[in-house]
Amino acid sequence: MYKTKPTTQAIDPVCGVVVDSRSDVTYLHAGRIYHFCCLSCRSRFRLKPSLFIGHHAVASGQDSDHVPTRK
Ligand SMILES: [Zn+2]
Repeated sequence: MYKTKPTTQAIDPVCGVVVDSRSDVTYLHAGRIYHFCCLSCRSRFRLKPSLFIGHHAVASGQDSDHVPTRK
């Protein structure tokens, strides 16, 4: 048996790939740390976190910033 260190894996909420949670590219949002595969994913998340985490829990409250409709 190989002794593998228990690596914690996380899902990049922007593009959906599995990332190592020891990765440096993280962002703290609403008390949770999110992990990203790259800086561009993180910057997209920072612009609109609700876009990437709002899919499953669209319950109450946080509909503050809507995307303005196209003209
Ligand atoms: Zn990504």
